[in-house]
Amino acid sequence: MIRVQNLKKSFGAVEVLRDVTLQVKKGEVVVLIGASGSGKSTLIRCINFLEIKDGGEIFIEGKSIDPKKDDLTKVRQKVGMVFQHFNLFPHKTVLENIMEAPLIAKRADKEQTRQEALQLLQKVGLSEKANVYPSSLSGGQKQRVAIARSLAMKPEIMLFDEPTSALDPELVGEVLETMKQLAQDGMTMIIVTHEMGFAKEVADWVAFMNQGKIVEMARPADMFNNPQEERTREFLNRVL
Ligand code: ATP
Ligand code: MG
Repeated sequence: MIRVQNLKKSFGAVEVLRDVTLQVKKGEVVVLIGASGSGKSTLIRCINFLEIKDGGEIFIEGKSIDPKKDDLTKVRQKVGMVFQHFNLFPHKTVLENIMEAPLIAKRADKEQTRQEALQLLQKVGLSEKANVYPSSLSGGQKQRVAIARSLAMKPEIMLFDEPTSALDPELVGEVLETMKQLAQDGMTMIIVTHEMGFAKEVADWVAFMNQGKIVEMARPADMFNNPQEERTREFLNRVL
């Protein structure tokens, strides 16, 4: 589904990604962990082509994507992304927020888009909020709308960058629950998170990033109980 091969990215003289190699199969959930500044956000931004790699290759569904030749708007439609901050359109209702991208980018049929948006709202447990404005939602509800909005483009894979980090603690659970549901539905996902309990429960693989490299990738039980690398052990000792 997604293969990243020897990915390199620098900002000025700083090498942020140094030969990252990662493979995610269809339906798999990979949780990406690592210290601040290790390159997690940069990696997933490169996979969505919000940042353009300096070297290496990114394959999406077997096809190597060349940012110079390929239509990145099309590529981004296959790769949904949810950030820490939800950035909903404040002057549009919840339903309009979800309908916006399919209507504009795909020129989808309006009534069908509406029906699909309502189904997505049901999926994230917010059917009763269709016609309200984002300002009247809690942070957790906003983030669930952001997830529904991203799903409206029918992505093949979803990328999450610390989707619960900006939320009050009591709102984290409902967003994690929505993501867990998505995983159970078979969505392919790469998730940057500090929620280790979620990683243990939902991830197929946990990848540990350190100084621009994935130094270890393992099943959650192995990663948390029996990490192989000293740097992984140090990190886990700090966060667990
Ligand atoms: P965090 O856990 O704090 O979110 P991260 O693992 O997501 O960290 P990145 O945001 O990918 O780390 O950043 C990796 C490194 O790249 C950092 O040293 C950061 O300062 C640098 N960096 C990221 N984006 C840019 C940019 N646009 N310009 C310059 N440097 C950048
Ligand atoms: Mg980050």
